[in-house]
Amino acid sequence: AVVRPTPESDAELAFEGALRPKTLAEFVGQAKVRAQLQLLLDAARLQNRTPDHILLAGPPGLGKTTLAMIVAEESGRPLRISSGPAIQHAGDLAALLSSLVPGEILFIDEIHRMARSAEEMLYLAMEDFRIDIMVGKGAGATSIPLDLAPFTLIGATTRSGLLPNPLRDRFGFTAHLEFYEAEELERVLDRAAGLLALEIDSAARQEIAGRSRGTPRIANRLLRRVRDYALVHESDGLEAVQAALALYDVDELGLDRLDRAVLSVMLTRFDGGPVGLNTLAVSVGEEAETIESVVEPFLVRIGLLTRTPRGRVATGEAWRHLRIDRRTDGLF
Ligand code: ADP
Repeated sequence: AVVRPTPESDAELAFEGALRPKTLAEFVGQAKVRAQLQLLLDAARLQNRTPDHILLAGPPGLGKTTLAMIVAEESGRPLRISSGPAIQHAGDLAALLSSLVPGEILFIDEIHRMARSAEEMLYLAMEDFRIDIMVGKGAGATSIPLDLAPFTLIGATTRSGLLPNPLRDRFGFTAHLEFYEAEELERVLDRAAGLLALEIDSAARQEIAGRSRGTPRIANRLLRRVRDYALVHESDGLEAVQAALALYDVDELGLDRLDRAVLSVMLTRFDGGPVGLNTLAVSVGEEAETIESVVEPFLVRIGLLTRTPRGRVATGEAWRHLRIDRRTDGLF
């Protein structure tokens, strides 16, 4: 019963779709990124060309897919959606690129997980709207150039550091999405409650916002859990929020079970660190990428963890939050 920042079922995806803002004006927060995107779109419109390629970087649930959809909507262009894991061969990408209509927007989620061979094909496609298709094998192999319709690539990645430099450099613009302030999450919740025809008082809204890990997706999910709780237990307000969040293992800082498991391993097994990422991942039975892109950014943001050249280190605040006393024996 963990409320994760990535969608887990079709029902959750449908729920998200219903709450997705459709325009830049409706998109809450990220003022800088919104202004930058607006300029990019306006300039492309004035020059009557496809907008520059855009890279959206940031932890899951902060609005990358939503922004890609908004860019398509606001520029009146069709949108094609794919993802890195779905592009396992250069041929997958060639098929995708050659079927784009002029001016189409191609969104590739988790672009850092695309196959290497496809990545290289993408360089030329992004730069010259052209790809080389290899036919035949061995000495008789030749490459056939193929012109593509001009398109705009929007790539999303949980960490831009995971992308090879040549790919990163080919994006005209990179937006780094930041965690949201509680006040911004309250606006996200207000909007969602309105769309769901839910009554939510300000104390309840504040409580959910403060425990949403700075993430709109989590805020909306928690709202749904609170709605369920209120329905079943016929209670509402702050009391329902607190009971529902306790049931789903969300603590006062918004940390979930995995966040706490990571911290707890660091404190109890490694005396607070430094601990290497892979050691940490193995100790909690998660993939290193999940720890690095989902767990760590938020723990760093709220000051429970720091990254050092020798590994991850838990701060004094982490010891206090988990109420674990630091062992002092054996030091001398
Ligand atoms: P990502 O692609 O970064 O994982 P999404 O774009 O899928 O995140 O966003 C997840 C959900 O959070 C969306 O369904 C949307 O309802 C909500 N959301 C994200 N960002 C915002 C925002 N700035 N304002 C309002 N809702 C948002």
